[in-house]
Amino acid sequence: MPKITSIKERLVFNSRGDRTIEIDVTSDNRYTGRACAPSGASVGMYEAQSFVDNDPAKTISNFRNISNKFIGLDSSNLKSIHDKIREIDSSDNYSNIGGSIAYALTIASIDSASKSLSVPFYKVLNPNINSLVFPYPLGNVLGGGAHAGPGTPDLQEFLICPVVSQNISEAIGFNSRIHKELKKSIEKVDPKFTYGKGDEGGWAPNIVNNKAIELVESAIIECGFDPKREIRMGIDFASSSLWNPQKKLYEYSREGITRNSEEQLEYACELIENYHLIYAEDPLHEEDFENMAILTKENPSCIVTGDDLLVTNKKRVKIAADKKSCSGAILKVNQAGTLYDAMEFAGECNSNNIKIITSHRSGESVDNHISHIAIATNSVMIKTGVVGGERISKLNELLRISEYGLIEGMAKLSNV
Ligand code: PEP
Ligand code: MG
Repeated sequence: MPKITSIKERLVFNSRGDRTIEIDVTSDNRYTGRACAPSGASVGMYEAQSFVDNDPAKTISNFRNISNKFIGLDSSNLKSIHDKIREIDSSDNYSNIGGSIAYALTIASIDSASKSLSVPFYKVLNPNINSLVFPYPLGNVLGGGAHAGPGTPDLQEFLICPVVSQNISEAIGFNSRIHKELKKSIEKVDPKFTYGKGDEGGWAPNIVNNKAIELVESAIIECGFDPKREIRMGIDFASSSLWNPQKKLYEYSREGITRNSEEQLEYACELIENYHLIYAEDPLHEEDFENMAILTKENPSCIVTGDDLLVTNKKRVKIAADKKSCSGAILKVNQAGTLYDAMEFAGECNSNNIKIITSHRSGESVDNHISHIAIATNSVMIKTGVVGGERISKLNELLRISEYGLIEGMAKLSNV
């Protein structure tokens, strides 16, 4: 059993240039695992709180006083590390220790155990994985909302999924081709286009929502693919960012229009049908389990997914499963807190036939653990950008994982 012999924490910067926390966990004085906490721009109301009093420096200095409590624990035993964190912080949202510590400490421990045991990270996390089923890369090709500036679409992410791909390398290559082609399509319609990109590497043009989806569709066709069957499209509406709870309206401020709940539901249905979307994330705001259930029922061939709705929280996915509010669930470890919490969430999703989509955050590091987490949780997709070092690092890790052999193929996306 690998034993934790030292822990080192530091303040570093994420891909947005904001300070965050990185932790090194060393087992047996030799095997160092490392993890850096990511952060979101469109943050769900019920997510773990990243920092104590929103202060990374205070969070780290508090942690220095208690980090010795983890020395001597088995770094491969996720539950024992989680339980120790819970002994220190029993709050709902990790506001005492800071979600970034819960995240980085549990992931760095498994990383360290993986090195000590010479077993891949995904296999330490889920020893039952004996063959490799790869998630489809769900690539952000065009960004708006909280991830890009004025003039860009109100909707946050326009995504593509290369369901025609036979293997992970081909899938990554197809997404990259569409991203390049889309640049040319945007140039034709947006005279002010500077090749600017949003936080996740999707293009950030001066266009409205419907034009954005049309352009993505035309780039897919231009590359010789069928958007109905081969390279499918998806949208992260991130609609909690649009929702005004006082007025009970979705405010599309860049487009200068509003929609009430019924109109938002209709709009989401229209986009799903007209563009044959395979994926619709947070089409309704984070409290609207009821309208999500209607949308899910009416669109069985689209993965209607909860992100802010579920915040990688086992209790919330149980509610969603009971109400049939979604067919897909975003898994972001830092929304949950510890990696143990996220694995519990994944278990609940899998036992309710809710498809898992493991996801990056808009503020990232070059860490690639989510590629292993996607494999370990039987995720059908991995949501990460198509370009940018911190996005590519996840995709390239999937290619390295494919060298381990025992490949079964790509995930099954039955009935979509
Ligand atoms: C998302 O909303 O799915 C996302 C990845 O963005 P953020 O990290 O800003 O929440
Ligand atoms: Mg989202």
